[in-house]
Amino acid sequence: MARLVMKFGGTSVADLDRIRNVARHVKREWDAGNDVAVIVSAMAGTTNQLVEWCRQAAVLHDTREYDAVVATGEQITAGLLAMVLEGMGVEARSWQGWQLPILTDNAHASARILDVNGAELIKRFKERKQVAVIAGFQGLHKDTGRITTLGRGGSDTSAVAIAAAIKAERCDIYTDVDGVYSTDPRVVPQARRMDKIAYEEMMELASLGAKVMQVRSVELGMAHNVPILVRSSFVKPEDIDPKKPPSGTLICDESEIMEQQTVTGIAFSRDEAQISVREVADKPGVAAAIFIPLAEANINVDMIVQNVSADGKTTDLTFTVPAADYQRALDVIVNAKKAIGYKRLDSATDVAKISVIGIGMRSHAGVAASAFKALAGRGVNIRAITTSEIKFSVLIDEAYTELAVRTLHSLYGLDKA
Ligand code: ADP
Ligand code: ASP
Ligand code: MG
Repeated sequence: MARLVMKFGGTSVADLDRIRNVARHVKREWDAGNDVAVIVSAMAGTTNQLVEWCRQAAVLHDTREYDAVVATGEQITAGLLAMVLEGMGVEARSWQGWQLPILTDNAHASARILDVNGAELIKRFKERKQVAVIAGFQGLHKDTGRITTLGRGGSDTSAVAIAAAIKAERCDIYTDVDGVYSTDPRVVPQARRMDKIAYEEMMELASLGAKVMQVRSVELGMAHNVPILVRSSFVKPEDIDPKKPPSGTLICDESEIMEQQTVTGIAFSRDEAQISVREVADKPGVAAAIFIPLAEANINVDMIVQNVSADGKTTDLTFTVPAADYQRALDVIVNAKKAIGYKRLDSATDVAKISVIGIGMRSHAGVAASAFKALAGRGVNIRAITTSEIKFSVLIDEAYTELAVRTLHSLYGLDKA
């Protein structure tokens, strides 16, 4: 008997048949005597539709109203799943973020969870074994009492936060793949499923483009030591042997992983844009003149490359921003032209960032160098490079994304046998 969190993503609750399948998974754990809190996403496509309606209503809308709209998708699935469970003889009730409550800060559309009150859930587990079905993705601002949402993919974060609050033994993330793979299995069929992955590596994979887990959920899992198991919701509940350890990928502490490979995974992101500021003066203060206005506009700059000046007078500075902020970033730079003093701007949106991740890189030299050689061998030109302790990224032409990912995947011996 244990206390479990089970989270089901959009494709897993896409219609009533799938919701019934989810209910059977929940009943399976409940029948085994476990206390269960279920976190659900909106039905597949619903959140996209809601976001699109907001955009059509007003391009520059109030994010507080955006949250009021987009949080509704999860309310539907929570209610439907609770109904189906009741129909199967499982005592259950739905909870909205504001009812627990799940308190957040004020960053509407990408709010951070500050506190989760799990007391009432625990009381009901003890009194009557009631299953809690909780709407993911949403919270309540602690002062204003307004509904907030946690950013796209945020139900993962709701699940891990609730697991920490009720001291669950494990947080199971049920999704449309059966675990975390060495790269997106939909792009590279040779991708290999991992039995375990360290929090830190999963955080890098997620932040660099692997959308299987929202990055904040992994951060939270690491901070509160919540074991997270990514597994498939498409397995039939009756095919699961309760006596065997569940299959999937465990996201856990580095120390629990016996053999660490140099490279564990490859992530990629096509949502990047590159801006090059040409012929700026090679003198103190120029980088600040570029990046302070961008920071003030809340634009996240990722890669930065600056050349050492050849003539001691001028140089070029290249950086990347999320594709969604590209136009705003250009406007900011054009508006700051006088302060920066550049000659020309070049930019590109048809770029992609490929990242190679592995804790083993800490102690291995030459990992990135071999990638540069392999990419050159395939005729892939590198526009920019960044490195850190356990990863490096290269910016390339978007058209080469798959070729580059597959090349590096084979290079590091990640292809499945
Ligand atoms: P959910 O709706 O259940 O939250 P998501 O669509 O957010 O599911 O995340 C699952 C998807 O993540 C998979 O369908 C897969 O295409 C993608 N993905 C990207 N990188 C990876 C990876 N390294 N391992 C597994 N899945 C990945
Ligand atoms: N429904 C939300 C989204 O699509 C949250 C989630 O699925 O995790 O982003
Ligand atoms: Mg998701």
